[in-house]
Amino acid sequence: MIGTKLYDIINKAQNGERLTKEECKYLLMQPAESLESSIIRAAANDIIRKKNENSAIIIGQVGIDIHPCEANCGFCSFGEGHTGIPTIKIEKPALEKAITDFCKEGDLFGLYLMTMTDTDKDFLLDNVAYARKVASKETQIWVNTGDNDLGFYKELVAAGAVGAYHVCRLREGVDTKIDPKTRIESMEKIVEAGLQLFSCCEPIGPEHSIDELVDNIFVCIDLGVTQYGAMRRIAVPGSPLYKYGQISDLMMAHVMGCVGLVYASVETARYFGVHEPCQLGYLAGANFVTAETGANPRDTAVDTSKGRGWDMNRCRKLLYECGFSHLLRGDESKITLDFDYLAKTDSLF
Ligand code: SF4
Repeated sequence: MIGTKLYDIINKAQNGERLTKEECKYLLMQPAESLESSIIRAAANDIIRKKNENSAIIIGQVGIDIHPCEANCGFCSFGEGHTGIPTIKIEKPALEKAITDFCKEGDLFGLYLMTMTDTDKDFLLDNVAYARKVASKETQIWVNTGDNDLGFYKELVAAGAVGAYHVCRLREGVDTKIDPKTRIESMEKIVEAGLQLFSCCEPIGPEHSIDELVDNIFVCIDLGVTQYGAMRRIAVPGSPLYKYGQISDLMMAHVMGCVGLVYASVETARYFGVHEPCQLGYLAGANFVTAETGANPRDTAVDTSKGRGWDMNRCRKLLYECGFSHLLRGDESKITLDFDYLAKTDSLF
């Protein structure tokens, strides 16, 4: 029998009321294979689809700078203590090709340029400006980079960026060399500079306790994020945290469902992701999917489009199969996502 506590929490979320940490913990404590988890995932799915009129978005990410990274995160393929990846800086023709491939059908909502934590600032600014020039006007330009000062975030805005991914990761300062306070301060500066803030509960592994997840989920709940989600830690061969293995797709979907109910009270939070993508997550509140090329911290391939990264066709097909009726462009205009659209964009298989 389902207890009334679960229904009371779901009712609160449906009414847009803020859940407490204790309520978030109660949700997370339900076993992922239980009826309770199924109800949590279904409720988050319902709330978030209604908020977006059953629309979803596709995001692109290009890794533009790879070198051994001084943050040395124990889960990342670029950590300087264990990486085997060479140093590569993307050239303009390669960036242009990546962007035009992503934007070919005009349905890319936003594009991340992803760098290491200590990437040269002028290099990033230059590439942001170039991406803004090359990408379709409906595609927003975003960054996924290290901690910076307010002035630099303002320069990114001037160069054409409108959003930034930034996270205070699980066990930040323990599994990474970065102080969690620095990460949180950067998130505040991102918002102050006028960039949209995108964040996530990540990188979730079997070693994390429920209390750690709860604390992480609430880190940026008052910062006005527009994207949030749940990302599992990929066990990258050769990385120090490989030994812990990975959580299942179902567990990641369970966390997504819990996150979806907690963030239902955040008016600005419209887009949710599970990473890496899995159908279960898109039935638990996730509504964006990321296509990737270039470097990827979860991959040992130099170009993730030849490794773990998904392409645009696969993203469209996933969202269609999960029942989304529309894709949104970065200017919020809608595209009908149906069989004909998949055929037209060569995304059927
Ligand atoms: S996750 Fe980011 S900050 Fe950490 S080692 Fe990888 S590239 Fe550097």
